Amino acid sequence: RSGSTQNMSANIKVVVRVRPSNEREMEMNNRIVVDVVDDRMLVFDPKEEVPAFFYQGVQQPNKNFLKRANKELKFVFDHVCGPNATNQDVFEMTTKDILTSLMEGYNCSVFVYGATGAGKTFTMIGNQQHPGITYLTMEHLFYTINSFGTDREFDIGVSYIEVYNENVYDLLKPSSTPLQLREDAKYGVMVAGMTLNNIKTARELLNMLENGNKNRTQHPTDANAESSRSHAVFQVYVKMRYKTSSQLRIVKLSMIDLAGSERASATGCVGDRFKEGANINKSLLSLGNCINKLADGSSYIPYRDSKLTRLLKDSLGGNCKTVMIANVSPSSISYEDTYNTLKYAARANKI
Ligand code: ADP
Ligand code: MG
Repeated sequence: RSGSTQNMSANIKVVVRVRPSNEREMEMNNRIVVDVVDDRMLVFDPKEEVPAFFYQGVQQPNKNFLKRANKELKFVFDHVCGPNATNQDVFEMTTKDILTSLMEGYNCSVFVYGATGAGKTFTMIGNQQHPGITYLTMEHLFYTINSFGTDREFDIGVSYIEVYNENVYDLLKPSSTPLQLREDAKYGVMVAGMTLNNIKTARELLNMLENGNKNRTQHPTDANAESSRSHAVFQVYVKMRYKTSSQLRIVKLSMIDLAGSERASATGCVGDRFKEGANINKSLLSLGNCINKLADGSSYIPYRDSKLTRLLKDSLGGNCKTVMIANVSPSSISYEDTYNTLKYAARANKI
């Protein structure tokens, strides 16, 4: 292992969250295909106990020879959150620690990855009863700032944008005109003309996030009426001014609710919808590529390949801390999606 590989390994954390089965899945007489063994390991497609069949007191050979063999694949991650985990539990295991790095001056990023319906937005945004990790992280950020005492002055600005079809839009001030990326000496990669709201408490976020989320571009497709084809990017700019030196420092935390990772082909889309799918794959693919290259210790990271990676260029790699949360359904109905998500997460975890 090269030095840079070891370095990166400490800088990316991969957590898998398995959500509870929903009513639809239970009605469809599904099978549970993700077995959470402990807080680091899960088994995908575990062996089933085949009930023994007796005829006149003699056990008969299993006639169910058409059934394919179970994969029974063991996966180990930095952490596995089972169906009973709350958003608070997920927060404790994912973003709580990265605030230390942020306060030391390093940009940080958090991704939720997974198929539509796997629980990405529930994890990120949640609802009034179960606020997601964005709110919990911001609450902890304000707590941390207040515990610093008086040697620094803080100023918190938040933005919420989406990357849709390789264009950037403001979720806090909806408009059909895409915004442009630019590089700023102080702010790093910036979205020109985006809304940057100053906030003083985490509470102020709740409505902002909820409304912003309603502005996300959504298109019903055959596969899933709530299919979300945009990447939602929430960013926090922390301005710190040291009172003694009056030195100014700006760090950035990015939290990204990625578009559904299901394949465009599986949703039966043609025309415009198909183009969207292709572009989503482009951003997801190039995010995966960048992470893999960082892992290999490559000197060339292809950030320019997609809008999403260009936007996050200064928040991935180097001393930036990254958390990848992979969301999956436990049900056999989502067998292929879950398998693909676990493989993607395992690749990132190898880093
Ligand atoms: P995604 O954003 O990945 O498409 P959602 O977060 O919208 O998926 O989740 C799909 C549905 O499942 C939503 O109704 C959500 O409230 C519910 N859900 C997801 N994760 C959980 C969970 N851990 N506990 C309870 N309900 C959940
Ligand atoms: Mg969603």
